[in-house]
Amino acid sequence: MLRFLFIPAGNVEGITMPKKFLLLPPSLLPFLLLVTLSGSAAALPEHSPVPGGVALLDLGRADQPQPMAKWGAQPLAVLPEKGRWVALLGIPLETPAAELEVTVQHGTLFSKKTVSVQIKHYPEQRLTIKDKRKVEPDPDDLARIARERTITEAVKRRFGDAQPDTDFDLPAAGPLSSRFGLRRIFNGLPRNPHAGLDIAAGTGTPVTAPAAGVVSNTGDYFFNGKTVFIDHGQGLISAYMHLSRIDVADGQPVNKGQIIGAIGATGRATGAHLHWAVILNNTPVDPQLFLARR
Ligand SMILES: [Zn+2]
Repeated sequence: MLRFLFIPAGNVEGITMPKKFLLLPPSLLPFLLLVTLSGSAAALPEHSPVPGGVALLDLGRADQPQPMAKWGAQPLAVLPEKGRWVALLGIPLETPAAELEVTVQHGTLFSKKTVSVQIKHYPEQRLTIKDKRKVEPDPDDLARIARERTITEAVKRRFGDAQPDTDFDLPAAGPLSSRFGLRRIFNGLPRNPHAGLDIAAGTGTPVTAPAAGVVSNTGDYFFNGKTVFIDHGQGLISAYMHLSRIDVADGQPVNKGQIIGAIGATGRATGAHLHWAVILNNTPVDPQLFLARR
């Protein structure tokens, strides 16, 4: 959070450490913070109005009270960026090229904003899973999957008040392997598309929080294996799957860079890797959009 607050506009490095502010007269601090907050890029995700992408919607000047935005019943994150309020709309992977309508509320005034979703074709990926039950679950497995889905759906729908830090770091060291959106065929059977980004690294490689947040759920799930969810605020939620080890507990606040667990191959996995999911307005979106400025 501190880094987010203290990085000045235009990515000018130099005043990145809070310590340096201690050398300045205390009377200057509020002024500098104000300049930083109103003038800085909040490092929002890249605007990408495609299925699985994030659309950024300009909602007017940030010196006006913060507006609210909703897509259907689902509230959207609204953040200040370069003196403007900006709403973030996560677009579901299954959305066809279409116009999506967002309701905006400024005080008692309601208006509509439309987003034109563009076509994007994601490549196909064929995988072989040795454990057949992970592709064709038996009745007991299906009951377990349904129970677990109820839990994780509630975790993904949450909308907390905290203003999220959208300036993400990669949560593990390693090459990016399977990208977001791949159309997946497991053992010859079409299954859900790849709703996350995979980072390939060995079992035991530390996994760190990409930004500050609160651990909103931990569990050991049929498909996802050992999993941690972090709630960053305003419907921005990240998840870490197939872990070999979980180092945090439900309800625990985490800082950017804090170790939350280790890479593994639990659940439905062809080998050790991290499956990293980023969710906005209850919709998985491409995590790379949150790293795009690097
Ligand atoms: Zn994955």
